Amino acid sequence: MYNIKSAKAEEFISDSEIRDTMQYAHENRNNRELIKDILEKARSCKGLSHREAAVLLECDQPDLVEQMYDLAREIKKRFYGNRIVMFAPLYLSNYCVNGCVYCPYHAKNKSIRRKKLSQEEIRNEVIALQDMGHKRLALEAGEHPLQNPIEYILESIKTIYSIKHKNGAIRRVNVNIAATTVENYRKLKDAGIGTYILFQETYNKTNYEALHPSGPKKDYAYHTEAMDRAMQGGIDDVGIGVLFGLETYRYDFIGLLMHAEHLEATFGVGPHTISVPRLCMADDIDTADFKNCVPDDIFYRIVAIIRIAVPYTGMIISTRESAKSREKVLELGISQISGGSRTSVGGYVTEESEEENSAQFDLSDRRTLDEIVGWLLDLDHIPSFCTACYREGRTGDRFMSLLKNGQIANCCLPNALLTLKEYIKDYASPATREKAEAMIKRLLSDIPNEKARATAAKYLDAIENGERDFRF
Ligand code: SAM
Repeated sequence: MYNIKSAKAEEFISDSEIRDTMQYAHENRNNRELIKDILEKARSCKGLSHREAAVLLECDQPDLVEQMYDLAREIKKRFYGNRIVMFAPLYLSNYCVNGCVYCPYHAKNKSIRRKKLSQEEIRNEVIALQDMGHKRLALEAGEHPLQNPIEYILESIKTIYSIKHKNGAIRRVNVNIAATTVENYRKLKDAGIGTYILFQETYNKTNYEALHPSGPKKDYAYHTEAMDRAMQGGIDDVGIGVLFGLETYRYDFIGLLMHAEHLEATFGVGPHTISVPRLCMADDIDTADFKNCVPDDIFYRIVAIIRIAVPYTGMIISTRESAKSREKVLELGISQISGGSRTSVGGYVTEESEEENSAQFDLSDRRTLDEIVGWLLDLDHIPSFCTACYREGRTGDRFMSLLKNGQIANCCLPNALLTLKEYIKDYASPATREKAEAMIKRLLSDIPNEKARATAAKYLDAIENGERDFRF
């Protein structure tokens, strides 16, 4: 039985509610009046229910689909302006005891090179990342109680935050590790992590169990209830996502929104971010073996409707996507992207040959961070290296309420400009620098509050003169 506030996975992600919703959406896919009403409701930026969003996903009326896209662009602009937050993944270890059939880290894969970074190696990776200009990382690791216990993750976080190389610093570490206990989530919180990210992979329990035949991850309830435990452990910024391609997109799209609704109803805070990874080719993984891979046009629509349905959430896309599809989804709702990424363990210091592959998936976008920043500037997005909210304690419901009432805009634009200025002073190529200087000059006058505008101008001068790390 469906119960949005239940603590049990099978009740807040009810299979029968998902199937009923799929049927309702199918029956109403040409119901123009209903679809117009849903779009009208969405215009108020208060979000949509999973049922309403599912109808939009099924809609096959071209003019209404166009309206959906326009609305997604509008909501993106209203909540996030044209800022795009930059981050990079850091793979600590690919040792893993799980049997996930879509992931090359699975325990039975003998062809992948296993590697775990020492603290010294982490130091070198972080210096390489700082030298690119990164300020925000997402830590990634396989699940292995002996090789990658929580103590290893905590020590690694400490190492990362301690490294100050030239003007570099990692100011926010997000963590994507396997589902764990409330006690361990509390330790991660105490270690100063930003967001705890965990992808559900799929919300379909039967399929989930087939895709995870062995290892601790096979427990559907334990995995699905992880965000509840993270919240109980004091982590109030959590990031959810599904791996599109494992299950029909209709099922997982609805499950994802039900998960967001559950977190908001139970804890008063929805997901800080929603990621939309699509399955990729990898070492011993062939996407042709998966019959649910999502075509580009559907993928764009999914991004647009998530933007409309959960306006307050940040949306993340990785280098799994090509430059072309990234360009499309940036305007439809994405607010964070990775750049210059390596998905191999130790990949920022040493480029791997194909034989010594330790990577988690093949990259579609292999451009450098400088190239990505230059490309974003050409598309009139502001690349932002901001980490201010989390460092100012604007997390969880504090962050959400500021975002929902639009006040966040007075901090975000100046912070984006200040961190972009730092980036171009320390790391950018001359061409990127020139484009960014022009953008900063042009957008400074867009800061609504006069006092904030004057302060931002003062900070920009100080950065020009060698000072760093200002924030609103
Ligand atoms: N091991 C952790 C866990 O169990 O959640 C998380 C880290 S894993 C390195 C990060 C994510 O990569 C997984 O949650 C999965 O969604 C994604 N992934 C795995 N195999 C992939 C593939 N072949 N293509 C794209 N993404 C993949």
